[in-house]
Amino acid sequence: MKLWKCSVCGYVHEGESAPEKCPKCGVAADKFMELPKEEAEKVYRSDKTNDYHMQLIRLAMKMDKIASKGIEDNLDPGCVHVFQYAKQRAWEIKQMAKAEIAGHISKGKF
Ligand SMILES: [Zn+2]
Repeated sequence: MKLWKCSVCGYVHEGESAPEKCPKCGVAADKFMELPKEEAEKVYRSDKTNDYHMQLIRLAMKMDKIASKGIEDNLDPGCVHVFQYAKQRAWEIKQMAKAEIAGHISKGKF
């Protein structure tokens, strides 16, 4: 399958030809360029990995919410310490995964 990139907004379409109009920004098909095979392979190859990063981000956000509830619950200093530690690690994991996705995007791996 061929990949076509919108030269206006960067949306990537999959198909034998460019879409009649860009679903994201609405420009006509002539604004789409077919991605060279090497670029298309980067998009397909990174798709699964980017999804893993997004799953990690969602889990980290869930961990942050749980940790915040634990901090608020404030049973004892030991518990609060664990929840604060978890909240900090969740932030780091989330931001590391985001940085990795941003790096992929800058290299055409999206
Ligand atoms: Zn577009």
